[in-house]
Amino acid sequence: MYRVLYRKWRPQTFSDVVGQPQVTKALACQIKENRLSHAYLFTGSRGTGKTSCAKIFAKAVNCLHPVGGDPCNECEICKGIDDGTVLDIVEIDAASNRGVDDIRQLREEVKFTPSQARFRVYIVDEVHMLTIEAFNALLKTLEEPPEHVKFILATTEVQKLPSTILSRCQRYDFRRIEPEVIAKRLQRISEEEGASLDSDAAVLIARLADGGMRDALSLLDRCLSTDEPPITVQTVTAAAGIMGRDYLFNLCRTIANHDTAAALTILDDLHKASCDTERLCTELINQFRNLLIVHTVTYPEKLIVATNEEIEENRRLAAMFTTEAILRALNVLSDAVDAIKKTQNRRVEAEMALIRLCRPETDTSVVALAQRVADLEQQIKNMQANGIPVQVQTPVAEPVFEEELPFAPDNIPAQPEALPFDAAPAFEDEALPFDDDDAPPFDSDLLWDETPPAPTQEVATPAAPEEFPFDGALPFDDDEFTPPEENASLFGGPAQVAANEPPPFAALPFDDDDFSPPAPAATVSAQQDESSNGALDNRTWTRCCIEAEALCRPLIGHLADSTAETRGSMLIIHTKNKLLAVLLRNEGFSNALATATEKVLGRKLTPKVEL
Ligand SMILES: [Zn+2]
Repeated sequence: MYRVLYRKWRPQTFSDVVGQPQVTKALACQIKENRLSHAYLFTGSRGTGKTSCAKIFAKAVNCLHPVGGDPCNECEICKGIDDGTVLDIVEIDAASNRGVDDIRQLREEVKFTPSQARFRVYIVDEVHMLTIEAFNALLKTLEEPPEHVKFILATTEVQKLPSTILSRCQRYDFRRIEPEVIAKRLQRISEEEGASLDSDAAVLIARLADGGMRDALSLLDRCLSTDEPPITVQTVTAAAGIMGRDYLFNLCRTIANHDTAAALTILDDLHKASCDTERLCTELINQFRNLLIVHTVTYPEKLIVATNEEIEENRRLAAMFTTEAILRALNVLSDAVDAIKKTQNRRVEAEMALIRLCRPETDTSVVALAQRVADLEQQIKNMQANGIPVQVQTPVAEPVFEEELPFAPDNIPAQPEALPFDAAPAFEDEALPFDDDDAPPFDSDLLWDETPPAPTQEVATPAAPEEFPFDGALPFDDDEFTPPEENASLFGGPAQVAANEPPPFAALPFDDDDFSPPAPAATVSAQQDESSNGALDNRTWTRCCIEAEALCRPLIGHLADSTAETRGSMLIIHTKNKLLAVLLRNEGFSNALATATEKVLGRKLTPKVEL
């Protein structure tokens, strides 16, 4: 009989369970020492081993000859549980039995003593799906269950559980399994199955599974059934319905080169190959997130799941972008994903996003302007590094805002010698590439133009001597590329960041043992009225973080271990994560956090990071 891999390789003992030592050791220890609780709560994302552990637990507490907290898997009870002849282990899917009547029936049932086993064990999966009435009905049973009953509640969304349920259960948090751990396990299983899986393919499966062993094994199953061994990266990409990473790298390269026509051609090819537009944008977001990591961290291998080759490719690509450009790309793509969800014309949204990315001059947002200024600064640096004289005068005074100017803004151009860029004649008013009115309209003919006007050239060319081959369109190809100074000061040097950087999923707010579910919004906003200044309590801030991460995927993991306080109209976030400060410089991310906070606290605050 053919059995799918994840069933065939489902762990049979606690020591078989992969990647959750904090849970399995504690459970085995409790069983060994007979210190059992009557209700357990297993939380964690899908495929991390919650149900497997619940089944092992059910066998272990009933096993006739347990071995150090593990079931023997040999006795009649163990075997009976495995083949379903022992009826004292009851699995309930709360998604389909969510009403109060289902729970009332369960309450009647628990009164009866088990037929064969020592304990009747109820495993309630996806328990967050229960209705409020069902929760209340369950509560009474959880409070005073009969001696012979054990409950194991499992959920992927612990924040949806009422605190009354949480406080009555012993809680165990299952973590996303490390990609290396998954990859290693996959290779062992393929070996046992007599198939050969190359190590890059194993890493790719692990990355796609996003910390879930079940998803990883399902994908391996598909690979085994679709192709002759050995299983390679190509097999995996075909089985998972994704292309290789090459198209992402190519898209990044065309964006860096401002080559709109090439970017749209790639999109067209992907469209013909039935690539899903939303998935493409999400993958591009992940790709730019990788570039951001490579840009800011010395040893990105720890934070990016990728083959060595891909890391090298990412390094080359990251050198083609400034941090501002990457942040803007993340912003544009997040907006595109939002828009794609709401529209029928998904392809048009993706095209618009690519055009915005390739042509920052068509975008007048602050983020886009910041990117263009950063690009210009980088070009000037490159020119100087290449011995091209560029006269840049550092302004003596701090820059002042318009409303603080002691004289009318009209007077400023009257002193051209004070302009920092006076060496470059291109900065005449009429030649300014920033001028929106001069930007070409969104004409479809123009979009497909082989050579879209690159405004950066207008800036660089006049200053560059004729014989010098350097041109504005290729400012980042220089091997001697040095990151902008600003980065160095912001991150206190890349090496330090690598040392301090928490792994992105190690300390999700969900993992907090003290976490209790958020109070209803009304109560919270009443506590945090307009005038209140001061620290947000852990529960409220955790809820803000969850909302923000739901609104803005790139923030996931970065708010971990942070605290927050309100100060007037500001939301001050205290964190050791320097990358968070960079992320929140992005208008879109900052707005997402502001919206999330407003949803929880009932008032609009401007987020600000204090390291
Ligand atoms: Zn046994």
